[in-house]
Amino acid sequence: MTRLEYIWLDGHEEQNLRSKARFVDHPIRSVEDCPCWGFDGSSTEQAKGNHSDCILRPVKMYKNPLNEFSGSSYLVLCEVDNMDGTPHRTNHRRKLIDLVDETAKYDMWFGIEQEYVMIDTNTAWPVGWPAGRSYPRPQGDYYCGVGDNNIKLERLVNEHAEACINADINIHGTNAEVMLSQCEYQIGTEDAVNISDDLWITRYLLYKISAFYGVTPMFHPKPVKGDWNGSGAHINFSTREMREEWCMEDLHDFCSKMGEYANEMIVTYGKDNDLRLTGKHETAHIDDYSYGVSDRGSSIRIPYSVAAAGGRGYLEDRRPAANMNPYLAVASLVKYTSSVVEKMEQDSTIA
Ligand code: ADP
Ligand code: MN
Ligand code: MN
Ligand code: MN
Repeated sequence: MTRLEYIWLDGHEEQNLRSKARFVDHPIRSVEDCPCWGFDGSSTEQAKGNHSDCILRPVKMYKNPLNEFSGSSYLVLCEVDNMDGTPHRTNHRRKLIDLVDETAKYDMWFGIEQEYVMIDTNTAWPVGWPAGRSYPRPQGDYYCGVGDNNIKLERLVNEHAEACINADINIHGTNAEVMLSQCEYQIGTEDAVNISDDLWITRYLLYKISAFYGVTPMFHPKPVKGDWNGSGAHINFSTREMREEWCMEDLHDFCSKMGEYANEMIVTYGKDNDLRLTGKHETAHIDDYSYGVSDRGSSIRIPYSVAAAGGRGYLEDRRPAANMNPYLAVASLVKYTSSVVEKMEQDSTIA
């Protein structure tokens, strides 16, 4: 017997993960061996009750790093289709794939920094914060902090990172963030589709492992109002030319032209992001596109290491919120990066 955990995204505006288990007695060598399945779309905002079936079509398989079954066990990422086999309107992965086929020529790489806050499920307040909805010491010591008064549930963070690695996901690192019980992990580098799939699976594993600790991870962009940092999901990105050929002038030209698409991009970067992008707490204001070297108050940061290498490397888009849907946010970066690079190529042939 093999245990297959089918994982998909539901029909809410801010999509939630859903999953259910299936046991099969035939050999599973690759995702092609995982049968299509169905679910009740009327319970996930994906169908009406009188026409409720949706199809789960397996697209990728990960080793299941959680000890849920004594036999072999996999996580099976699925796309949702309508009964007639067409992609469901909530299937944003399909739209990203359509786009990537066109733009693969730029060989884009992505790395994502996922921030989140560990919420005590009973008190609905961050782990380790004083009871009665009181506040801990102000921010200042917690970022990359060491010791019980500065970092909570480090064991959960480490267990999650190890689980991701055991699922063959490219975890780059972890760190404690600016607010107590706010954490970050980074994944990548990967191509557009793989980074987006991997991000959803790392979130899935975080929910599952946190549950053993009575914790629910929160991805809201502004978990606590006031003088507390929000949670983002910076997307680092590069094209082959950026990595191998560009200089600072090209990066400035690129960033300046990206500004023309700021309005189109921001709507794909997560709900309630206006509460986070205030111009304070290491953010640029949501209405105020900017870029700069080593500038954590900008929309797009040119990392210092990239400037030091003469402009060769990658850029960090700091705007995406922790709750962004990577299928939408990464699609937007693919789309507008290729538009801008095309424009730059045109300009250089005219010149
Ligand atoms: P920060 O200084 O912003 O906190 P981190 O170290 O947390 O940076 O994250 C850096 C991210 O950049 C990682 O996810 C990494 O995979 C990604 N990255 C590194 N090089 C590239 C590249 N050439 N293209 C795209 N992403 C990259
Ligand atoms: Mn980081
Ligand atoms: Mn961070
Ligand atoms: Mn960052």
